[in-house]
Amino acid sequence: MNSIQYEDQREFATMLDRQDPLANYREQFRFPLQRNGRSPVYLCGNSLGLQPKSAQKFVNDELEHWADYAVEGHFHPDTRWISYPGRAKDGFAELTGAKPTEVVAMNTLTVNLHVLMATFYKPDKTRRKVIIESQAFPSDRYAVASQIRLHGLDPDDCLIEWAPRTGESHLQIEDLQDLLQQNGSSVALMLLPGVQYYSGQVLDMAAICELGRAAGCAVGLDLAHAVGNVELELHKWAPDFAAWCTYKYLNSGPGAIAGAFVHEKHFNSDDLNPLHGWWGHDEATRFEMANTFTPAKGADLWQMSTPPLLAIAPIIASLEIFKAAGLATVFEKRDQLTGYLSWLIEQRFPDRIGMITPADARGSQLSLTVIDRTIDARALFDRLCDLNVTGDWREPDVIRVAPAPLYNSFTDVFDFAERLQEAFDSL
Ligand SMILES: *Cc1c(COP(=O)(O)O)cnc(C)c1O
Repeated sequence: MNSIQYEDQREFATMLDRQDPLANYREQFRFPLQRNGRSPVYLCGNSLGLQPKSAQKFVNDELEHWADYAVEGHFHPDTRWISYPGRAKDGFAELTGAKPTEVVAMNTLTVNLHVLMATFYKPDKTRRKVIIESQAFPSDRYAVASQIRLHGLDPDDCLIEWAPRTGESHLQIEDLQDLLQQNGSSVALMLLPGVQYYSGQVLDMAAICELGRAAGCAVGLDLAHAVGNVELELHKWAPDFAAWCTYKYLNSGPGAIAGAFVHEKHFNSDDLNPLHGWWGHDEATRFEMANTFTPAKGADLWQMSTPPLLAIAPIIASLEIFKAAGLATVFEKRDQLTGYLSWLIEQRFPDRIGMITPADARGSQLSLTVIDRTIDARALFDRLCDLNVTGDWREPDVIRVAPAPLYNSFTDVFDFAERLQEAFDSL
């Protein structure tokens, strides 16, 4: 994957930083405070991305507009709140490989899963089952189970899990194929991730969409850990829908507005029956306040409410940074950074740290396990926190770390290895 000959030396990391075309993007982000006299080694962009400095200005501008223009802010030429959320479209489209009409900034992730399942999960007598992955993010599992119950069905009968084989931690596409062979005609929907949050495995989304089409079921992708992290081709792969949050790799702040995708193939369908609100009404005539609903074009039809401007502003700030950096450059650095991290860990801790993230199917994240049974994994993680290393802990024994190409350096990665050594030594 990477042609660099890595070296276990600080000077080497510094040298890579000097050659890094994205090195000065680090300055555009705010890092957490020092702790115990240590500078932060923040490797948690998979959970909450750091704050772009420009986010404050974007939010403040809209607070000012609200103060100065009040209700006129919706249409005033200086503010145009009416079209402000649309500014996320090009960035979302670029990040997900979609057409701008296929994406929209709205709601939050789990809400979007519900809104989209309300359209695309329509169980009938023959098709009623839903496939998720066995280690699905709990919110996705809860959402799917409650959708099943909403239709008067029982999750125990209708929820099918695609699981890793015994003793393995990765999902194999052949097993999904088998599941569909066994259950195909009864499956109504597959809701699967782009990147599995626990293992960090990047799934073969093209193959998933292909299998779904062949089986005649709807396909939804949860891109929470994929967007801004891995290459996506939604228009080409053609899932029916997708959704993602913007506070992980997209650095848009806790609870920032999420994204949604509906494939163009559904735009002229009369029998979808999406949930409606006035923001899904055609914009040209929305404010005539007619009793009849005229659908907006594209994914905008799935909007329901007045968009929360203040929670969209940081997304616009963040998308500008991605655009300036260029996705290809971001992804190239991702492979080098995570490649270096992985190499250092293998080099220094071969008998102590294992990795469950597949080397040939990963984005930024590495999911580490402590294989040295003489060490209490949780105590090790707590030591790392004391040393101002931020990763995150997932029960029972996984430490997730994800260097983010926009703001992490090769020196951060080297410091992680140093502090991990220090944490081991102190136990
Ligand atoms: C982060 C994440 C969520 C969180 O959902 P919210 O509605 O934003 O709280 C849900 N699903 C997956 C797969 C995630 O990674």
